[in-house]
Amino acid sequence: MNTSFLFDLLKTPSPSGHEEAIQEKWLTYMQTYVEDVTTDLAGNAIATVNPGAPFRILLAGHCDEIGFMVKSIDESGFIYVEELGRLSPLPALGMEVEIHGRNGVLNGVFGANAQHHGGANADLTMDDLFIDCGAESAEEIQSLVAIGDPITYKIEPSHLRNNRVVGRGLDNRTGAFIVAEVMKRLASSLPEVCVQGVSTVNEETNMGGAYFAGSALKPDLAIALDVTFATDYPTAEIGRVGDVTLAGGPVLAKGAPINKKANEHLLQIAKERNIPVQYELTPRRTGTDADQLRITGEGVPIVLVSLPLRYMHAPREVVSLQDIEQEIDLLVAFIQSLRPDTDLRPLIWNGR
Ligand SMILES: [Zn+2]
Repeated sequence: MNTSFLFDLLKTPSPSGHEEAIQEKWLTYMQTYVEDVTTDLAGNAIATVNPGAPFRILLAGHCDEIGFMVKSIDESGFIYVEELGRLSPLPALGMEVEIHGRNGVLNGVFGANAQHHGGANADLTMDDLFIDCGAESAEEIQSLVAIGDPITYKIEPSHLRNNRVVGRGLDNRTGAFIVAEVMKRLASSLPEVCVQGVSTVNEETNMGGAYFAGSALKPDLAIALDVTFATDYPTAEIGRVGDVTLAGGPVLAKGAPINKKANEHLLQIAKERNIPVQYELTPRRTGTDADQLRITGEGVPIVLVSLPLRYMHAPREVVSLQDIEQEIDLLVAFIQSLRPDTDLRPLIWNGR
């Protein structure tokens, strides 16, 4: 796999609702390998192999990341923010940020009242934090920043020991990356079915990208790729939250929304290929694009394949490149094994 493309995606800010720059990189990469590459009204980026084939698979990984928006600017030029997606204010204090304004990037840092003076306590909320850009007046900031401008942490990806990567928004730019790598391999070794790989937008805020994609493409099976909670670090209680380890292989989901036939087939392929798999439980819903894809059109069977990730929605998250590689291998082998007459009905009734 192309790790430098992964890092390229990770270096590209893609706060939910502002995915154009990362989609452009995804499309540019894809068009080298896949003939049929396009976009839609939501801002999804779509690559298709075997467009005419009778059984259609939608492979979706969201490319948006969590972040912030400029909410207000006070008279001294400090900026207050609104969260873009769900994140904790605690690790934000002291973090450098980039405000993506109309004239380019403005550097800043999250400040708060000193702990010594009664600020920055455990009950810190986002309203206690403000961004200091070094400005000396509101006018100075207003000439550079507009209400609603997106903000991301200023963080570059890097390597840790044992093939691990640390960086911002690994949730879920890794998923968009895996979609691209799977499509690239399928393009050079065509399956019997049609496959549409989609780098979806807006998952962290409204899952609207998945809705646009699923409604337009009307797949026979949708496979959502996202990250899930690794629970192999201090204080994680596996009795309460389940047992998922980094470098333990891709994670399949079990629960009511998941199509059991496709899921069982994934497990079979993993066994044949000696790819370890782990499980997470999604009894009611998955909390991913899969939920939205499932209820598009007349309803779509779904499976979810997740990448183990440590420190979900913290400024920096950690994943294993080995898991990514194994997930790509599993998905390529799975899709190549699917036949156009695949019937995913859980119960096939022919009368008695
Ligand atoms: Zn997320």
